[in-house]
Amino acid sequence: MKFKILSASLLAGALSLGTANATEFMSIGTGGPTGVYFQVGNAVCQMVHRNAGEGRKDGRQHGYRCSAPSTAGSIYNIKNIESGELQFGVAQSDWQYHATNGTSKFEGAQVPDLRSVFSVHPEPFQILVGGNTGIKTWEDLEGKTVNIGNPGSGQRGTFEVLLDANGVGTDYFGSATELTSSEQSSALCNGDIDAYGYTVGVPNAGVSQAADGCGATIISLNNDAVAGLVNDNPFYAFATIPTGTYSTIESNVTTFGVKASFVTSAKVDADMVYEVVRAVFENFDAFKSLHPAFANLSPLQMMSEGNSAPLHEGAIKYYKEKGWM
Ligand code: GLU
Repeated sequence: MKFKILSASLLAGALSLGTANATEFMSIGTGGPTGVYFQVGNAVCQMVHRNAGEGRKDGRQHGYRCSAPSTAGSIYNIKNIESGELQFGVAQSDWQYHATNGTSKFEGAQVPDLRSVFSVHPEPFQILVGGNTGIKTWEDLEGKTVNIGNPGSGQRGTFEVLLDANGVGTDYFGSATELTSSEQSSALCNGDIDAYGYTVGVPNAGVSQAADGCGATIISLNNDAVAGLVNDNPFYAFATIPTGTYSTIESNVTTFGVKASFVTSAKVDADMVYEVVRAVFENFDAFKSLHPAFANLSPLQMMSEGNSAPLHEGAIKYYKEKGWM
C-alpha cells in the first residue's frame, strides 16, 4: 500500500538523520566523590556538553554525551579502560608509566593500548596524621593503625611502593586498613585510624575536613628512601605543600608526588578523543575555574608533561591544529 511505503521511507529518512548526529556515550573513570579526580571528570563532561551547544544553533553538533562516575581510582580506571568498560579515566602518572611499560603492579599485565590525552594537576603523596597522635615522622608510624587505601586506588599502589622503598611491608604498622578516600577523614577524626596516605591534588576537601575537623596535619616525607624514589623514577618529583595550605600546616611540608593524567585507549575513536580535547582547550578558562587545583594549568605543559603512554591520535590532531606540536 502506498501509505505503508511512504511511512517506511519517512522512517528511513529519520534514521539516517539520526545517524548523522547519533548520540554516543562516554564514561570517564574518576576516584572517590570527595577527591579531585571526580572534579576533573565532571569538569571535562561539563565542557563536552557546553561545546555541544545543547540545542543552540552555534553549538558544536558532535552528539557526544559524557558521564564521570566515582570509581576506586587510578589502577581501577586503567584496567577498566583496557577492558572497554570506560573510555577515559584519570590516573596518576606513576601508574600510567607502569601500565605502559609492564612494570611494578603491571608486571606481566602491560597495557599496550593505553594512550595519554593530557596531564592535569600535581598530586603530592600525603600522609595525614591525627592531631593528637604525636606522629611527626615516618618512623613514628611504626606500630600505628594506618589506612593504606582501597585496592585499585593510586594511593594504595604508591603507599606500597613507599613501604618497599623503606624496606618494610604493611606489618610495619600495627594494623593497615583499606578504607576509601571518602571514608578516611572521618575515620581519622573518630580515632579509628592514626594516619592515612592519599595522593591527591591541593587543595582537597577531604584533607580540609580532617585538618579543620580534628587538627590533622601532614608529615614531611624526605628520608633517603624517598630521595631514592625521586632519583630513580622519572614520574616522581619532590613536592612542597606550603604553609597555610590547610589550617594546620604551620611550616612547609616536603614530600614526593606525581601528576594526575587523563588517559584513554587506542581503541577509542579518534573523533571522540578529538572532541573531548577540543572541548577542554576551547573552554580552558571555564575549565580551570572549576577547581582551585587547576589554577596553574597550562596547555603546553598538559600536552607534554607526565604522559608516558603515547598520545592518542585524536589528541595529536587537535594539538597539531593549534600549532602546539
Ligand atoms: N590519586 C588518587 C588515585 O589515583 C585519586 C585522587 C583523587 O580522587 O583526586 O586513586
